[in-house]
Amino acid sequence: MHKMLPLLLTTLLACYRQTEGSYQYLAGHQIWKLGGKESALPGQLMADGLLDILDHSRKLQQVRVAPHHIDRVSELLQKDGISYEILVDDLASHVEGIENSERRRRDVSGNHQTCTESHCPEPLTDVYMRFDQMEWYLKQLNETHYPNVSLSSIGKSHENRDIWLLHIKSNKPDARAIWIEGGIHARERISPAVAFGLISKLATGDGAKYNDFDFFLAPMANPDGYEYTFTGDRMWRKNRRANSHQRSNCYGVDLNRNWDFKFGVGASNYPCSEVYMGPSPFSEPETKALKDAMLERNGSLLMLFSLHSYGQDLLYPWGWTSQEEAENKDELVRVGQAFAEGAREIHNHDYDVVNSAGGLYYASGATDDWAYSETSARYAYTLELRDKGERGFLLTSEAIKPSIEEVWNGFQKILQNIG
Ligand SMILES: [Zn+2]
Repeated sequence: MHKMLPLLLTTLLACYRQTEGSYQYLAGHQIWKLGGKESALPGQLMADGLLDILDHSRKLQQVRVAPHHIDRVSELLQKDGISYEILVDDLASHVEGIENSERRRRDVSGNHQTCTESHCPEPLTDVYMRFDQMEWYLKQLNETHYPNVSLSSIGKSHENRDIWLLHIKSNKPDARAIWIEGGIHARERISPAVAFGLISKLATGDGAKYNDFDFFLAPMANPDGYEYTFTGDRMWRKNRRANSHQRSNCYGVDLNRNWDFKFGVGASNYPCSEVYMGPSPFSEPETKALKDAMLERNGSLLMLFSLHSYGQDLLYPWGWTSQEEAENKDELVRVGQAFAEGAREIHNHDYDVVNSAGGLYYASGATDDWAYSETSARYAYTLELRDKGERGFLLTSEAIKPSIEEVWNGFQKILQNIG
């Protein structure tokens, strides 16, 4: 009996951690930094589900490799003349270490921010909010600021969570509309955090001076995936569709490959891939809800601003090809530079203004290309937030406040330049 007790405790503890933790799944996963020649091979391996490209920009450098793929991927890269260096040899202990030091920092900081069901006056900035806290904040804002703002659910996710849309209303009847989307990729937690920061500035802060515009914000486009980064896998990217129709045990569709524009270019039809585009365009309730709500405002839509991480790049169309230029490319670059200058003024962080299809990395079926092609929006940007790969998706919550401050300043420059 006594001999069994430690074993029993260990087993119980393991079960508990397996259901509650977000990193155990990542045991043995590694992060590699690629070097050597530029090659299309990493993109192909990602489509085949053999690796996970972390840095989605022309600075393509870091990839994640699952333990059962390490030997194969290593061999294929070497054959292609690509070198690699192991940055993280066990992602589970890496994430655990970061989460523990985050917890210790919060414990000693004695911060008093609160967000409960009955009282959530501000979005939290000392910790990444859970989905229920996001809902509490939005509902309270709607109660206290109606009719200047109005909150509606535009659809439900696979797991029946609401896709919320907040409208911050202009006082002009024929106002142009700015659409802001956050959280479409689950693991990019800084994206919804900054989206909520922008909501707070626009609805209750000095954003009132921009009420020539109608603002529509969908700050959490992928609530199932986001919650899963807390309860299952910290590196989760896609939504939580069960892909049993494809006879696959792998979950999830990449919602930023599921929009109906050049569907399939730079994406994968293999359900286990991180860039799985889904069975058909707008097959996912999350993208369909967003698309329908955007089309309701078509005609007045002036800009799409989609928040992602990481890399500190402001991307403009096209993402599906580098052979064609966006029709108003010079204007997109001019306004983009205004953003970058505004952002740099605050904490001296650089954001590069670049074409979305950089280097050898193409992506289609994304919100930005779709909005630019299929709606009246003449401005479409994807902002890759902090950082430049030091922490990547595991960016700690200390970065929330400064990220909001610099993006808000840059965003204001955009508004002043497109008005
Ligand atoms: Zn993303």
